Amino acid sequence: MVATQERAEVITNDRIAKLWMPKQVLITPAALEEPWGQQIYERVKALGLPVQELKQNRLVNLRGADERETYRKAKNTLAVVTAPASAFKLQPIPPSADYQFHLAEGCPAHCQYCYLAGSLQGPPVIRVFANLPAILANLPNYKKPNGITTFEASCYTDPLGIEHLTGSLAETIRFFGEQENMHLRWVTKYSQVDNLLAVPHNGHSQPRISLNADLISRRLEGGTASMAARLAAVRKLALPQAAGGGGYKVGLVIAPIMAVPDWEEQYTHLLDNLQQTLDFPCDITFELISHRFTPGSKALLQEWYPNTTIDFDEDARSMKFNKFGGKKFVYNATTMSTLRSFFYSELKRRFPAAPILYWT
Ligand code: SF4
Repeated sequence: MVATQERAEVITNDRIAKLWMPKQVLITPAALEEPWGQQIYERVKALGLPVQELKQNRLVNLRGADERETYRKAKNTLAVVTAPASAFKLQPIPPSADYQFHLAEGCPAHCQYCYLAGSLQGPPVIRVFANLPAILANLPNYKKPNGITTFEASCYTDPLGIEHLTGSLAETIRFFGEQENMHLRWVTKYSQVDNLLAVPHNGHSQPRISLNADLISRRLEGGTASMAARLAAVRKLALPQAAGGGGYKVGLVIAPIMAVPDWEEQYTHLLDNLQQTLDFPCDITFELISHRFTPGSKALLQEWYPNTTIDFDEDARSMKFNKFGGKKFVYNATTMSTLRSFFYSELKRRFPAAPILYWT
């Protein structure tokens, strides 16, 4: 772990990826009573971050004068809290995994298409959970009687983006390494994987790295690691432990796939780079997610990012309903089919043994 804010950078091959450092850290009395909360407290203090011990367990005064200010303030705030009782009642999350559970809620990145927009209540503060041992101890209750049960840990956060502040991801990987028939899945747009390489995961964890065309990532994924840094992380995670890597079965999530004017050229470049990165035998999978938005997420994202270049034109899209009756806008059938054919044929040609888990 880095010891000071000045050193809070990691070298990832030929570029520096910045670690997220909140401007304020709030810790509740209940979180301070938890040994895991104490170790988070020690970490953030060692990084020189300003920590405020709250008098009550509720987070208050997190709003700014308008939505933009609320966003700015919240995205600079780390709150160390205990997960509520509802966090112990796990929800299914197909097609990604059998169940979702949470190490934290909220994400330090600034993706202009953010999947979380509108799905969490209140200002987008990054809340990390101090009662991690209890959260983990609850998971075996959800084991299926037969076969492997999969658990997704990144529905409401990017667990690697906050790992230097919590250590919760490494602890979770270690926990799953000791379990029978329980597998962990998580996804990230960050790259500081060095502390995860030697964790005894026992093949029970699948890290997934989110990839996109370089131009799209640079324009739309503020605060995340560059594509070069993420590809370097993919390589480190996938290399065998004997070769200094993590020996993980790595997932590549290409998302959100966007039909920008020169998309074919942009994504060909990404796949070329990925092929060069994985120039050794390895076990990988692909997940392919096309860009979509809901009326609610569009409204909030346009408030957060008024100058965004994302194409939110509803007339150019097809409308679909989710299982709860909510509307979402996806690419029309022709665009969808062209994009899908491109990725399936290019991936099959370059990585013939790698399963494509789904296209959506
Ligand atoms: S990494 Fe995911 S959760 Fe975080 S801002 Fe980007 S899209 Fe949202």
